[in-house]
Amino acid sequence: MTVKELLQEILKLKQEKDVLILAHYYQPIEIQEIADYVGDSLGLSRTARKTNTEYIIFAGVDFMAETASIINQDKHVLIPNYESCCPMAAFLTPEIVKTYKKEHPGLPVVVYVNSTAAVKAESDICCTSSNAVKIVEKISKEFNTEAVLFGPDANLADYAEQLSGVKCLKMPDVGHCYVHSQIKPEHIINVRDIYPKAKLLVHPECKRDVRELSDFVGSTAQMYNRVKNSPSEEKEFIIGTEIGLLERMAQDFPNKNFYPVMDKVICFNMKKHSLELIKYVLEHLDDKAFEIKVPPEIAKRAITPIMRMLDYS
Ligand code: SF4
Repeated sequence: MTVKELLQEILKLKQEKDVLILAHYYQPIEIQEIADYVGDSLGLSRTARKTNTEYIIFAGVDFMAETASIINQDKHVLIPNYESCCPMAAFLTPEIVKTYKKEHPGLPVVVYVNSTAAVKAESDICCTSSNAVKIVEKISKEFNTEAVLFGPDANLADYAEQLSGVKCLKMPDVGHCYVHSQIKPEHIINVRDIYPKAKLLVHPECKRDVRELSDFVGSTAQMYNRVKNSPSEEKEFIIGTEIGLLERMAQDFPNKNFYPVMDKVICFNMKKHSLELIKYVLEHLDDKAFEIKVPPEIAKRAITPIMRMLDYS
């Protein structure tokens, strides 16, 4: 089957069945094309919360599908490839959170959505890269503290602390995303030399020395909107995040030019889905092998911090 035939077949199956397909901006562009909604973690969670379909196929990493399942316990959330997981989530376990809570009683626990359901269950509130600053500000006010516990991304914790002025104690110090933390100041200096007129946009999962050399820091959706709302004289952009977002922008804004900040800014974990797998799942919606189910006792505790985040955003 050609890609075109696969796309047509998927669109046909999707129309016949009660399914919503969600895709993260880091998905391969052909998967973004067949999705009902493409967005960042926050937008995907909000869309999953609103849907009325019986099935949700989630083209993203496992924690995103888990979150959708937790807030839609009456629906079937399916992931085309269960090996698509986020290595950052492995930096934080419920035991680590419990230890930090014991050492810092009274401090609210903020966990990035890039975490397991069991870790979310130990938290007071979740956040995404687009609302981390706001969430840290609000929860520290609510708890009347000058600090919060924050994990697992140490770079996002640093960013939230820098912008909110609230101390973010990192759980743990070393949590990071391998895709964004490979970007170094020398890459920025090099790419700026090549494209001196381009605006440089980076993700808050990048290290502070990289963020400080950029023109804009934001989540994938915030970067997308920064380009969408840019004045017509701004024609060139250097994109400091996973290549899928650059591909989306190049398609949606053909009058602008986009350059990667360095070679191979690729999240291999996000790229584990394929059109073939999505077609197969659409043909086998009741095959439990694809369904994401969080144990009820964990889901019951994890839903509160997720809903709190959605209400605060
Ligand atoms: S880009 Fe980084 S944080 Fe996002 S899913 Fe991939 S490894 Fe995880």
